[in-house]
Amino acid sequence: MDTETTLQFEVEANASPVPASEREARIADPGFGRVFTDHMAMVRWSRDKGWHAAKIAPRKAIEMDPASSVLHYAQEIFEGMKAYRLADGSTALFRPEQNARRFQKSAERMAMPQLPEKLFLESIEKLTEIDRDWIPTAEGGALYLRPFMFASEVFLGVRPAHEYLYLVIASSVGAYFQGGAKAISIWVSDDYTRAAPGGTGAAKCGGNYAASLVAQSQAIEKGCDQVVFLDAAEHRWVEELGGMNLFFVMDDGSMVTPPLKGTILPGITRDSILTLARDEGIAVREEPYAIDQWRADAESGRLRETFACGTAAVVTPVGTVRSSKGDFTIGAGGTGQLTQRLRDRLVGIQRGEHDDTHGWVKRL
Ligand code: PMP
Repeated sequence: MDTETTLQFEVEANASPVPASEREARIADPGFGRVFTDHMAMVRWSRDKGWHAAKIAPRKAIEMDPASSVLHYAQEIFEGMKAYRLADGSTALFRPEQNARRFQKSAERMAMPQLPEKLFLESIEKLTEIDRDWIPTAEGGALYLRPFMFASEVFLGVRPAHEYLYLVIASSVGAYFQGGAKAISIWVSDDYTRAAPGGTGAAKCGGNYAASLVAQSQAIEKGCDQVVFLDAAEHRWVEELGGMNLFFVMDDGSMVTPPLKGTILPGITRDSILTLARDEGIAVREEPYAIDQWRADAESGRLRETFACGTAAVVTPVGTVRSSKGDFTIGAGGTGQLTQRLRDRLVGIQRGEHDDTHGWVKRL
């Protein structure tokens, strides 16, 4: 029989969860990625057994052998998504099947087994349900879910591992950038690139983020919030930020976003914005946009707005761009009209306040 379709999650509730008063204190102003819930989800894979040992269990440290393959060759992938509390008190996920599919694509690129969509969704839903009290009630708050999988085989040979561990942990989060949806400043990296043609740019693998950190540190040194990467071949085309996709709004009301050619992450927020904009009749072109053009368009006024988008920060305006060739400001350096409208629409749908015409919200 196919174990993948019959595999059930065994649920072991945490016998000593964080007391309610302590939990409330922790989630009142949680920041990002520091406050964790009482449980985690776990599924194992081995070449002999396939997917097995599916569990929701108390969250705890995992023991690893020092020769675990991931510690040496970085065979690891992850996802990032949020569960929201809606106005009526119910809990909802946003397009979780898209995360399941991207996780499969990342696995394929990293020569890892593909977790069936059903198991991915069940792991997310069951963990969210058991830890739903950890969803902050403050504005902008959510439960950030972090599914990930790594090579757990104890072996130093360089080849795809024969054993993997899939886990989901959950973290209570507030607004990502301090100051909420205020405009951010970004640093154009011209000495480091993120992804080359044929590389792993479209996969959500830990190594991509490891490679981006030195550029992100440089951005911080330059007084910027985020780094923006250019393409590896020509250092000419704008690609994306370290953790967000980019959109450019022109003075004729049209929008441009870099195309998915394998070097940028296919963001689920990006896809949602494309759909919402097209619903409104806005012309959106998925085409390369050059850094020099960006500067020229910002200076001439042809470019009105630029925003970044991703699960963590939703839609965030870009106010200032800094580079070794000098700085430029987008519009008046604040939040543009279309940026604000698209942000409000998307947040409204995610929070169950606007019509969900595309069936994106999955209530639990
Ligand atoms: N680009 C990169 C490099 C990212 O890490 C993310 C966050 N997952 C995104 C874009 C935005 O993707 P999403 O909208 O699916 O969060």
